[in-house]
Amino acid sequence: MPNYYVFLGPPGAGKGTQAKIVADTLQLSHVSSGDIFRANLSNQTELGKLAQGYMNRGELVPDDLTISMIRDRLQKPDCGKGAILDGFPRTPAQAEALDIMLRENAGEVVFVPLISVPNNLILERMTGRWSCRAAGHVYHSKYNPPKQAGVCDLDGSELYQREDDKLETVQKRLDVYEKQTAPLIAYYSAQGKLVEIDGSLEITQVTASLLQALAGK
Ligand code: ADP
Ligand code: AMP
Repeated sequence: MPNYYVFLGPPGAGKGTQAKIVADTLQLSHVSSGDIFRANLSNQTELGKLAQGYMNRGELVPDDLTISMIRDRLQKPDCGKGAILDGFPRTPAQAEALDIMLRENAGEVVFVPLISVPNNLILERMTGRWSCRAAGHVYHSKYNPPKQAGVCDLDGSELYQREDDKLETVQKRLDVYEKQTAPLIAYYSAQGKLVEIDGSLEITQVTASLLQALAGK
């Protein structure tokens, strides 16, 4: 049965950083809703144009658009054996839609690590984040700097600071997380799938906790 893992946590907690490492380690696909939206934005697709305003304001893109985008992505052959989901689901309606679409392929969400980080660290992480244009690899000016400033170590593409990582937008996104996404903690707890992981530690230590927790699933 294909197993899916939902990496939950506030924006800037380190979901993308960890999802990429864990997906490489376990040879699973990494599905990041934010990365897919940003790819659509830079290619100026219809979906990108529809999503742009919501993203720049730090709001969630409406559920119908997001759910159908993820449904398309999960139907790709590389997700057939399972995947790590990062940034999706973000609302109870998305979580319910995910359960239904996975069940259609005899899959299920088996484990939900909640990466917890206090808000003061989040602000520092997001305002120091640099992302790569080509594949969404992430760096931090202080905690995870690239070898050469402004250039991705992994694919040589340009690093940029996200429009929505400005202080006022970050605050809005934290508010949106509390109101719209935090209810998923109770949703997955009730199913016995949630494990809290201390995301305030160094990147390698967080990875070790995640791999240990995943090994028991
Ligand atoms: P998310 O996907 O949850 O929004 P990211 O993985 O993009 O978060 O991480 C946000 C920022 O924090 C990035 O600049 C990243 O390099 C940095 N970061 C991630 N994990 C850690 C950590 N454990 N310690 C310090 N900085 C981190
Ligand atoms: P992220 O890269 O996960 O921080 O997401 C960046 C932005 O993309 C969010 O602030 C939203 O505007 C949008 N987004 C990403 N994932 C979702 C989702 N599951 N539901 C709605 N909007 C999303």
